[in-house]
Amino acid sequence: MTVTLPSNVTLRPCPLCGGEALLKTNNDAQSMSRTPQFWVKCNDLDCGVTLNASRDQDKIVKKWNTRPVLSVQANKVQVG
Ligand SMILES: [Zn+2]
Repeated sequence: MTVTLPSNVTLRPCPLCGGEALLKTNNDAQSMSRTPQFWVKCNDLDCGVTLNASRDQDKIVKKWNTRPVLSVQANKVQVG
């Protein structure tokens, strides 16, 4: 599911396509027993940039906003 960010927190746009970035979590009704994980994913399905999951929501947001572009590109799925 997509996490609704507090108004004082913003995610920078995707480094590759400039698209909207969304904070995602597995912490939904189906997975209450699991340790919540957060990750950032580009909203453009053709782009698909994902920042690896973290248990710390603040950490993953900071990491996305200060990410080295090259490491994000390494995780990118192949685009046509
Ligand atoms: Zn993108």
